[in-house]
Amino acid sequence: MDFGQTAPARSSSTGYCGVSDTLPLLRRLWRDEVRRFLPVLLAALILMTLEGATLGAMSYLVQPLFDEVFVAGNATAVQGIALAIAGIFTLRAVAGFGQRVLVMGVGLKVTTALQTRALDHLLDLDAGYFQANAPGDLIERVRGDTLALQQTASAALMTVGRDAISLVSLLAVMLWVDWRWALIAFVGVPILILPLALLQRWIRDTTRQARGSASLLSTRLDEIFHGMVSIKVNRLEDHERARFGREVAGFLTAQIRSETGKAALPAVIDVIAAAGFLGVLLYGGAEILAGEKTVGAFMSFFTAMALLFDPLRRLSMVSGQVQAAAASLERIYAMLDVRATVLPPAAPVPIAAGRLVFHDVDFAYGQEPVLQRLSFTAEAGQTTALVGPSGAGKSTVFALLTRLIDAKSGAITIGGTDVAAADPADLRGLIAYVGQDAALFDETIAENIRLGRLDATMDEICAAAAAASVTAFTDAMAAGLGTRVGPRGASLSGGQRQRVAIARAVLRDAPILLLDEPTSALDTASERVVQAALTDLAKGRTTLMIAHRLSTIRDADKIVVIDRGGAVESGSHDALMAKGGLYANLVAAQASFGRQNGVGGSGSPPGHAPDRHPK
Ligand code: ADP
Repeated sequence: MDFGQTAPARSSSTGYCGVSDTLPLLRRLWRDEVRRFLPVLLAALILMTLEGATLGAMSYLVQPLFDEVFVAGNATAVQGIALAIAGIFTLRAVAGFGQRVLVMGVGLKVTTALQTRALDHLLDLDAGYFQANAPGDLIERVRGDTLALQQTASAALMTVGRDAISLVSLLAVMLWVDWRWALIAFVGVPILILPLALLQRWIRDTTRQARGSASLLSTRLDEIFHGMVSIKVNRLEDHERARFGREVAGFLTAQIRSETGKAALPAVIDVIAAAGFLGVLLYGGAEILAGEKTVGAFMSFFTAMALLFDPLRRLSMVSGQVQAAAASLERIYAMLDVRATVLPPAAPVPIAAGRLVFHDVDFAYGQEPVLQRLSFTAEAGQTTALVGPSGAGKSTVFALLTRLIDAKSGAITIGGTDVAAADPADLRGLIAYVGQDAALFDETIAENIRLGRLDATMDEICAAAAAASVTAFTDAMAAGLGTRVGPRGASLSGGQRQRVAIARAVLRDAPILLLDEPTSALDTASERVVQAALTDLAKGRTTLMIAHRLSTIRDADKIVVIDRGGAVESGSHDALMAKGGLYANLVAAQASFGRQNGVGGSGSPPGHAPDRHPK
């Protein structure tokens, strides 16, 4: 069934977002997902503070080590200093381990919460959204972007607390030794502020491109794996290899650019360090030679300065990681911000099965009109067939009835109630649908049938399986109804899959039955078995069927012929044949196709002759 693109409120690409957009994204992440872990994060922060402070303590100990031990030759001081250094390292080990475990736990919980929230949200979106957005792209957003976020955000968090504290403690030591030296150490900073800002923007842009390319790769893989049979029989392997290769190359370029940007950040810090060391050595060295400062003071300052550029380098990398995380967040939120357009009314009215009426219904996909003042009636408890050229709008009728899409104007009523006034869940509860694709999941046949009614007992499942001739083939299988069907039901034949889908509908036992060409993909023998099961299922229900092979609808109580979005004829088979209009032409066209191709009366060209609007 095709549904319109009705949902996206924002496009999947949000266009250019500057670095200034990072803060709102992070604020939203904090508010929605991270804030509830505040106590854990505070504990982690305490551990980070301890871990970070150990570096300052280490560089501080260098001064007594030089001045007391090496210069003054105080032998007892060496033991105290050695013990202090060992203690500092042990503290660093314990605090580092603790904070990493805590932060990693929060990162994983935030990621899985985001994934769950994303799926919750996607399940509520209009069917049209999933036609406009490829599964691969959505999977990449739900899984890939959240994982990318987790990796960068956890790494950033772990680094940020510890290194910021290290930075402060080392800076304190430097200032304590000589504030003028400390100023000289950072002479390179002002010149490099602009390059740093430009690098951030570069990382954000290239990461955004890389994430987009990753989506494309996932989409391509999804298409390849689902289309493997077509690829093989059409010998398209090399074509797919080349196409995938080109897309991988695109991804690689963007990813390498992004990583290069990230790698450039610490390099910029090293340039600042080079300028700082040069200045301090020239200025401070002269002061030591002049006897104004001790060697210990200089060594302490120098150790603090050497140690300081390391966390500074890592912090600069964090700023790159934050930009990368923001690129993923942008994509996740673009998906979470899409709103469903088919919504339950504020005060839904109850709806019950009965006569189905379309009254002057108009519908368009974008600007393209599909249904134009379509009016017809399907009587309760009877079978009504919808017939017409391909693209006439028959499947659209089903999508409107189930409120996968909403009509632009006109009214659709069931038992006298407008479907738009009812809760879509109540409406869909009245309907069982069997389409061209049986939509099986990689579970057992019994579990697949159970999807028709989740609280069904095993006896009810077996009865439904028997009614739909499923047991006719499962009886010969070792595991019977417990046989797994494989991905999308791949280990069953087309006819078997459809029988499972019919068993599902039998189990559902809904008063309204929608059949959208369920036998179109079947061979004649399978079609007969499936058709017989469908005829049984339709008994006593209000059935609307889209017929592919016109021979299958001769016995329908009513046939409605749809052309160019409107009902052009309706009546019984005999009445319409006698009329000699579009229906009679379609029947004649199928009969002549059947004769030419030797497939008998039930044969037909694929689709419905004449194929006016191929999909
Ligand atoms: P039928 O079932 O009679 O073959 P459909 O109801 O599937 O016809 O489609 C009616 C028309 O709407 C066709 O022209 C088709 O191309 C168009 N259409 C169907 N689905 C979509 C969609 N998701 N987006 C845009 N156009 C669509």
